[in-house]
Amino acid sequence: MQNIKDEIIKSVKILKNSKATTAFTGAGISVESGIPTFRGKDGLWSKYDPKILDINYFHKYPKDSWKVIKEIFYDFFGKATYNKAHEVLALMEQNNLINNVITQNIDNLHQEAGSKIVHEFHGNSKNLICTKCGKSYNISEVNLSSLPPKCNECNGLLKPDFIFFGEGIPKKAYSASLEASEKSKVFLVIGTTGEIMPACQIPYLAKQNGAIIIEINPEESNFTNRITDVFLKGKASEIMKIIEKELFKNK
Ligand code: NAD
Repeated sequence: MQNIKDEIIKSVKILKNSKATTAFTGAGISVESGIPTFRGKDGLWSKYDPKILDINYFHKYPKDSWKVIKEIFYDFFGKATYNKAHEVLALMEQNNLINNVITQNIDNLHQEAGSKIVHEFHGNSKNLICTKCGKSYNISEVNLSSLPPKCNECNGLLKPDFIFFGEGIPKKAYSASLEASEKSKVFLVIGTTGEIMPACQIPYLAKQNGAIIIEINPEESNFTNRITDVFLKGKASEIMKIIEKELFKNK
């Protein structure tokens, strides 16, 4: 534990001195909120077939896709609440210690914890969009008891507003992420394998532009031995709790 404590103290110094910091998060930050990762031994894809999130399959078999989508993203994920790691990132933003969050997650937990500047690289499951007229809905406005849900304006098929396999990255989030990778002096990478393209390129670009990479993960990732400067091995909420204590101890 002493080693990790030293590494955390080193990270806190870097974070305090940074002129611009971005947090880059993946599925791992929400594991302690009860949302499993997709891949790996206990990941969602060990239970469900990823084809339900293939855009062509969705359009061909909307009812079949929606049955599984509802079960995973609304009956199950929908009940999750943010954890300490999301909370500390929001607190850091309020104290000007973080400028923005880039997340690969679609669970809305950063915003629920209080983060204001969040670039959602893969979209957000709490919003639905009409595939015909483009009208958008909050999940609270949509009745999922009859599937697939339809638009009340044009009767078009509604789709969760996160990207499916075969779809592109939302333009605004992509350009904001590129800008953050150019401007940030520190990248705090939390809970991601770094295997999903093109999201995984963002920390590499930041490193090329001179950013210091601090990484939190219980396992080594694709970043760890390539670009990470300080590796904090452990669970996001446990490490972020100590970071919070060190960052704010004289306040
Ligand atoms: P991933 O499933 O590839 O990897 C998850 C990473 O989290 C691993 O490196 C793992 O070691 C780490 N991890 C596990 N427990 C952790 C903990 N307690 N604290 C910190 N790290 C922990 O996830 P990914 O790289 O983000 O890619 C999967 C894609 O699937 C994402 O792009 C995302 O769109 C999507 N996804 C989203 C959610 C969500 O919204 N919560 C959940 C699953 C998958």
